[in-house]
Formats: sequence, C-alpha cells, structure tokens
Amino acid sequence: MTATTETTAAASSARTAPEFDRAEARTAHNYHPLPVVVAHAEGAWMTDVDGRRYLDLLAGYSALNFGHSHPRLLEAAHAQLDQLTLTSRAFVHDQFADFTAKLGDLCGKDLVLPMNTGAEAVETAVKVIRKWGYRVKGIPADQAEIIVASGNFHGRTTTIVGFSDDPDARDDFGPFAPGFVTVPYGDLAALEAAITPHTAGILVEPIQGEGGVVIPPHGYLRGIRDLATAHDVLFAADEIQAGLGRTGRTFACDHEDVVPDLYVLGKALGGGIVPVSAVVADRDVLGVLQPGQHGSTFGGNALACAVGSAVVDLLATGDFQRRADEMSVLLRERLEAMIGHGVVGVRVRGLWAGVDIDPAVGTGREVCERLMARGVLAKDTHGSTIRLAPPLVVSEDDLTWGLDQLAAVVGQR
Ligand SMILES: *Cc1c(COP(=O)(O)O)cnc(C)c1O
Repeated sequence: MTATTETTAAASSARTAPEFDRAEARTAHNYHPLPVVVAHAEGAWMTDVDGRRYLDLLAGYSALNFGHSHPRLLEAAHAQLDQLTLTSRAFVHDQFADFTAKLGDLCGKDLVLPMNTGAEAVETAVKVIRKWGYRVKGIPADQAEIIVASGNFHGRTTTIVGFSDDPDARDDFGPFAPGFVTVPYGDLAALEAAITPHTAGILVEPIQGEGGVVIPPHGYLRGIRDLATAHDVLFAADEIQAGLGRTGRTFACDHEDVVPDLYVLGKALGGGIVPVSAVVADRDVLGVLQPGQHGSTFGGNALACAVGSAVVDLLATGDFQRRADEMSVLLRERLEAMIGHGVVGVRVRGLWAGVDIDPAVGTGREVCERLMARGVLAKDTHGSTIRLAPPLVVSEDDLTWGLDQLAAVVGQR
C-alpha cells in the first residue's frame, strides 16, 4: 500500500477546509488538531473527506492498537448492538461474566471493576487504594497518602490534574485534592524516602506515554514492587497507554516480570470502538468495595463487555504482542539512524517511540504538519517530541514507508 503522492495542503482542499473550520467553530479549543478531516479508516490507514489517504502513526494514543475497523472487533460490536447494549449494573447481563473472567485471567487477578474512560479507572484506583489503606492497613481517617511520579499523565479529572506537574493540565483548575506526594520518576531512593506509615499506594506509569515515551531505568518497576511489598503499600500500574500489546508484551510491567497489585487499563481495551476501562486486582484489594460505594451507569455495559471480550481474545493469542516485539527492531534501527540527522534522541519500546526533534529542524508540531503533507499522521507532545504509536497491525512495508517520510521531513533544513 502507498499513500497518495498529492502534497496539496489540506487547508486548500475542496471539502477539508470548510469541514475543518466548521468543526473548530463550535467547539472549545481544548485541542489543537492537525488540519485534516478523516472520514474512513481501516487497519493502519485513514482516508480524509477529500479522498486522501494517511498512514496513522498515532493509533488514537494507543486506543487503536488493533487498528481501525478490526473485523473481529466490529463483528462483536455489530452482533451485540442487535441484542442488548445497556442494563446498568442494577441488573446482570449475559456479557458480563465472560468479560470479567477473561480480563481477570489475562491479568492473572481475581476481580475486575469495569469503568469507561481511563481517568475514571485511575479515580477508581485512587478510591480503592485509599479504602484499602483505611480498612486493611489501618491508616487513620483521611490521612492516606498516594505517591505519584513527576511528569505523570493519569487523566483530566480535578483530582488527577492536581498531582500533575504540567502547568497546562493543572493551572487554574484548583483547589486540588490533598493526599498525593510527588517524587522524581525513575528514582527509587526518592520513592523509598517518601514512604511513611500513612502511605497507602504508589501510582505510576510503567512507561510515561504522554511524557514522551519516557522509559524508566531497568529495575525501577521491580524496585517499586519490592518497596511496596516491604512497606505494606499497594502498587498500582497505570497501563492505560503502555499496556495491552503496545510494548511487545501484554503489559509494560512484564518487561521486568513484575506484577502490580492493581492494573489500571483503558484505551485499547475498548478496541477503538467504545470507551472501556477497568481496574483489575485480587480479592484482598478490590474486595474492599461494598455495594453503593463506587459505580458508573455505563461501566461494564453489554456493548462494552462484548467488545472488551473480543479485545481480550485477540490479546490472548499473543500475536499482537509478538508483532509489536518483532517490528520494534525495524522501528529502533530506522529511528536511531536519524540521530544526528534532525533527531537528537529516541526511546523505543515495542511499537512505541518518543522521537526528540532537533530544534533546528522545527517544532514537533511543524514536523507533524510536514508529515501530514506527505500522508503520515503523527502527534507531537511537549513541544519537540513526536510520539509514534502505529496500530500493531501495520505492515512492515507501510511502517518503512512512514519512517521514510519522517527521515525526509527531519532531514530537510
Ligand atoms: C490516556 C491516559 C489516561 C486517561 O485516559 P482517558 O480515557 O483519556 O481518560 C490515563 N493514564 C494514561 C497513562 C493515559 O495514557
């Protein structure tokens, strides 16, 4: 497959420009999208309203790990739409048991608490950690502390942005919830020093995606696991972006053979079709919740469970993890060859990369605009970094072609 060779700027196209302007006119500007208007997508390719094709190197921030319109996921969604979509948790539906059992098994854990968005799953983890802290560990009322890492991204609720150190995410949204202690990411000594008798949990991303695919030093996750066990503290791994095949393993924690107390999952769990998130943990942790203490109207709905089950079926084959692992070699080789040629640094794990652009070449945004003109869609993060997260179904030829475009764009001065 090859993308169109047309290089006309989207803004001058027949349907794109008016559609883009219309879309921007009636929304809050809480995003700064590239000037493309997508109408269709399959696998790793998207088509815009003017019929131009683009290779998707973002995959919906890893929500589309299995690619657009994966036939098995679409089939599950279509079939379920005709049967039942929602009961609320007031009643049990026939998709619930399969989903929770399959996801629990994938994680090697007893229980699953389904929610919708990633931020809700993180909020759920925070609540479970605190309740466990009071009910099981015996922390005095309202004194529980959760340790988080600098540079984190865990979502957009007021509680979560309160422990972000990104001014854009945080400024003007206070007052913030207390009870969070921030330590430098990757620094085990700082983490250990921050643990007190009031510490209930540690919440970290095994790899910081939004932060620019920041990979902690090897041994960090194992160290957190050991500290958590030694100090009777829960380890919650936010695998919302890093998990479910992206890094070449089912979970990013698998790279250190580490099992956290709580898996926090989202994004790809919904197959890019519906929002599905979950906290997955053993009975001694999730068992602290009693009826009425937490919930969600849409969490664990029948459509979500049907799609989520199909997602877990795909992951259970191991094919996607293997693919990400194999293609990682190509991604790393090509990106490392760009260092000194418009790229100043790269971090690669599985089919996931943070690419630091030489400021002399332009900003991350400018590079993404030039990529778009060549039929490749990617997104900058933190000014000068581009995050590459192609759907795990991308072919070797297509990925090679996409990386050719990046090499050409950053090589141009
Ligand atoms: C995207 C993301 C979230 C938030 O997920 P939403 O579905 O956008 O609420 C939380 N944590 C991590 C690591 C993420 O990448």
